[in-house]
Amino acid sequence: MRSFPKPRIVLSACLNLKPVRYNGQEVRDEFVLKLLPYCEVLEVCPEVAIGLGVPRDKVIVYKKGDSFGLSQPSTGLELTERMNAFSEEFIKSLPEVDGFLLKSKSPSCGVSNTKVYKDEKGEEFYSKGKGLFALKIIKSFELLPVEDEGRLKDAELRSNFLTRLFAIASLRQEFKNISRVSQLMDFHQRNKYLLMSYSQKKLKELGRLVAQAKAETLKETLQLYRKLFLQALVKKPSKGQHANTILHIFGHLSRHFNQKEKNHFLKLVEDYKSGKIERRTLIEFLRAYSYRFEKDYLTSQTYLYPYPEDLN
Ligand code: SF4
Repeated sequence: MRSFPKPRIVLSACLNLKPVRYNGQEVRDEFVLKLLPYCEVLEVCPEVAIGLGVPRDKVIVYKKGDSFGLSQPSTGLELTERMNAFSEEFIKSLPEVDGFLLKSKSPSCGVSNTKVYKDEKGEEFYSKGKGLFALKIIKSFELLPVEDEGRLKDAELRSNFLTRLFAIASLRQEFKNISRVSQLMDFHQRNKYLLMSYSQKKLKELGRLVAQAKAETLKETLQLYRKLFLQALVKKPSKGQHANTILHIFGHLSRHFNQKEKNHFLKLVEDYKSGKIERRTLIEFLRAYSYRFEKDYLTSQTYLYPYPEDLN
């Protein structure tokens, strides 16, 4: 069984049970409560950081020319520059982090479902969008997972967020101690099927990089590996990509099964693709038989153990 690193995440302070919302309250989210003990948390409340008190009048996002602005309609305060300046300073001050978990719908932190208005008085609705702080974060950390607790109610998005978060945290922590090419090979091998599920193309690129790695240029290789690894995980895998990965893993086990058993497994994969069963059923099957047939190569795969079980 895999031991997990502690991802370092930036969290909206109100999700960390701090009563900093405009109405003086905090947010209680069951998934966030479950996740936090597994993480190293850096919390932030951008609205408090720019000097708005608690409680405070509501602020809004509005369409400002080609971009977006922030204002407080009740006081007529224009807050765009303050928020942008804070966001830039905050980003510069951060250590290496693995991801962001922000508050949905917020004019500052929202990654989704933030109400955007046509004007700074908030008189006319324009569309749903993102908060001003979140926009800066997404732009500056395009290779890291940035989500809000609202989007993470969806099981697939949650699984994808956790998979990336723990994969990136392992990369950050393990790479600090890599001093030999063989250690990089070992890391790559354990992540082979995880990478395959996200991008066959990037898996090949990374495989070539590792095969050509040399002790004298290991530092540069690690830097390039990190970049390609993060790029590989940007796009959420489709069901087809998962099914393909699962079949590759099954290929290591299939000689132990008779034809009827193989047909049954293939039928389960089709059932997964058509939405009749969950991916988890197939993963449990592969885990169990990897142990049964003592396939250490498989039991060490991060694809089969992407994050702690309790977070499922
Ligand atoms: S959503 Fe962001 S700005 Fe609003 S209270 Fe929470 S942390 Fe502060």
